[in-house]
Amino acid sequence: MTITSKQPNTGTTIFTVMSKLAADCNALNLSQGFPNFDCSPKLTDLVHHYLKKGMNQYAPMTGIQPLREIIAQKVSDLYGVNYHPEREVTVTTGATEALYAAISAVVHQGDEVILLEPNYDSYAPAIVLNGGTPVYVTLTPENEYRIDWQVVKSKITERTKLIILNTPHNPTGTVLTENDLNQLADIVRDTNILLIGDEVYEHIIFDGRQHWSLLRNETLRERSFICGSFGKTFHITGWKVGYCLAPKELSDELRKVHQWLTFSTMTPVQYALADFLKEPDHYLSIPAFYQAKRDKFLACIKDSRFSYTHAHGSFFQCVNYQQITEENDYDLAIRLTHEIGVASIPVSVFYHQKNDYKILRFCFAKDDETLEKAGERLSKL
Ligand code: PMP
Ligand code: GLN
Repeated sequence: MTITSKQPNTGTTIFTVMSKLAADCNALNLSQGFPNFDCSPKLTDLVHHYLKKGMNQYAPMTGIQPLREIIAQKVSDLYGVNYHPEREVTVTTGATEALYAAISAVVHQGDEVILLEPNYDSYAPAIVLNGGTPVYVTLTPENEYRIDWQVVKSKITERTKLIILNTPHNPTGTVLTENDLNQLADIVRDTNILLIGDEVYEHIIFDGRQHWSLLRNETLRERSFICGSFGKTFHITGWKVGYCLAPKELSDELRKVHQWLTFSTMTPVQYALADFLKEPDHYLSIPAFYQAKRDKFLACIKDSRFSYTHAHGSFFQCVNYQQITEENDYDLAIRLTHEIGVASIPVSVFYHQKNDYKILRFCFAKDDETLEKAGERLSKL
């Protein structure tokens, strides 16, 4: 039997590769993005409570009502924008599913989707599997990954269906500003171009910066799927609960895909999250918590030969290693895992042509002891 692969160029994700290597080498794993500390015991108690209470059957396809309601309430409180909990909020199995469903819902054969690279690895395969073509705008460390909106505009053709934005950004730690949103609005106004805002790091933002969600600009909001995840905000990446906010016409299409993809998301966890979200401090305390982690990691590598600009958001810090070696970033990430027992992610993997700017990404969502040990080892290079 022969199978014609639909993804002949797809291998295993770098996150899986590096986490496995870290485990095999017994290395400190600062590669794949997940915390090595636990979530609030209140949250696990709540899940336990709902498991014991028998909330163990299918949730409604769109998510349980109390969770949809409190998500809508939170967005209204934080950004003054209203989404209808029945029609415009959908609970998904992680942001990955929300992204896949949104892309599948709107991308037709021959459509173009603009991606700003470096970009998260799940976007391009989802576009291609739906017959679309990614069109890349390349951002570089030389100008701190700033977006030249004229370049974005120059990539638009009559086939452009969608632009995907990610703020705070994985892997670079940059964030969009109000000015970015205004410039994007000038480009898409009077077009049929749709948008996805991948905003899973919404609450992981530093130094007093504001999260400029696409939903804060009316021109953008009316054409946007906003994808979020509780994995990042509440230290529960393994639970895979996310959501998508979108105007009714877009949510209707997203739900048509979601119902065939996963249909619904784990019930007791949804009830637990609906209760946990009633206390805003659980997410309002997250920026300070992760800013302290970023600062701790940077203090631990301050005597190293890495150079960097502080991450503005996300739980990733990118560093340039040009003063240490000329190796390419992929080889270096592998070698450091073997030789000094510290695993990272080479940023070239987030570029479609694997551009190597000599940058590694470290995840600082780790306990202080791990950050100190990693810093000690990295400072010897
Ligand atoms: N988008 C970005 C930018 C991410 O870093 C991640 C990470 N894990 C996801 C989406 C997927 O989120 P989830 O784990 O909720 O599927
Ligand atoms: N988002 C995580 C990262 O960037 C990984 C998620 C995954 O492994 N799929 O490290």
